[in-house]
Amino acid sequence: MKAITVEPKKNGSARYDDFPEPDVSEGSVLVEAIAVGVCGTDVEIVEGKYGWAPPGKTRLVLGHESLGRVIDPGSSKSLKKGDLVVGIVRRPDPVPCPSCAVGEWDMCSNGLYTERGIKEIHGFMSERWRTEPEYAIKVDPSLGILGVLLEPMTVITKALEQVQMVGQRAYWEPKTALVTGAGPIGLLAALRLCTRELQVHVLDRFDSGPKPALVRDLGATFHTGSVLDLGFNPDVIVECTGVGSVIADSIQQLGSGGIICLTGIGAGGATGRVVADMASAAVLKNNVIVGSVNANKRHWYRAGENLAHSDREWLSRLITRREKPENFKHALEREPDDVKVIIQFSEI
Ligand code: BGC
Repeated sequence: MKAITVEPKKNGSARYDDFPEPDVSEGSVLVEAIAVGVCGTDVEIVEGKYGWAPPGKTRLVLGHESLGRVIDPGSSKSLKKGDLVVGIVRRPDPVPCPSCAVGEWDMCSNGLYTERGIKEIHGFMSERWRTEPEYAIKVDPSLGILGVLLEPMTVITKALEQVQMVGQRAYWEPKTALVTGAGPIGLLAALRLCTRELQVHVLDRFDSGPKPALVRDLGATFHTGSVLDLGFNPDVIVECTGVGSVIADSIQQLGSGGIICLTGIGAGGATGRVVADMASAAVLKNNVIVGSVNANKRHWYRAGENLAHSDREWLSRLITRREKPENFKHALEREPDDVKVIIQFSEI
């Protein structure tokens, strides 16, 4: 079969080439790939900045935002041939740490977890892949290709749950929420925040392309420019850029008793002075800066429900480009107006 693979930590090593069929040790459920989403993490891996091959191997099959069709349900009692499924990304560490022991592998505390297409287990950018039945999530068939948005939706489901939980530390009645970065994660965050009684604002670098209308159609307000010029102090900020200066400004701008949830990783650092100012602001305002990564089964279940009940027409506008696997290099070069680029392996 064909697969998109990379030699982790080696810039420019990605290729679309022949690769052995998935080994049955990877799980009894055999799946035909339909589509795989591309995100910043994939770009980082291809640039040699992140990622780990399986033990004893040099190459890793890329891809963690999957959508596929079951060819063989293996030992699964609930799946059948033809079902649409998405594969869970993270696997618990083998020790296991207390978090993994209770199924909260997203909170793994010893760092020995593995992640498909990212850390030590092959991903989903191959014509066929396998999974253990308990890590295959059945997708509402009426979602069709939109099922590829499930993995990013799980990330935001967990992040918003974190915000909600932190909010319970005191009496809390948030009125305004800001999302920084109108990529897929940011837009899905806005979609979910708009279902609550909040005034939702989304800030992005660019005001061209589909993003402003996507935001307005949710009933939220679109902004460009600096967070410091917003003219209000948000009660909740969901930070989805990972850019040092945006993070620093966001912490500075957060309202009293506010909560900022950081979801973006890896784009530049703030200077010592800025970080000290940020910290003082957080201390003086009792703010919480909460980091959130990955998602466990509870979030996967909720995300599936949320996705299935979201406006399909709006969701479909998030997928701004489809590429063939052989054009994967183009898919990784995202353009400013792209929201979600997917690599389509087969028709749905
Ligand atoms: C993925 C997560 C993963 C994280 C860190 C993100 O892009 O969506 O599932 O835990 O990268 O590797």
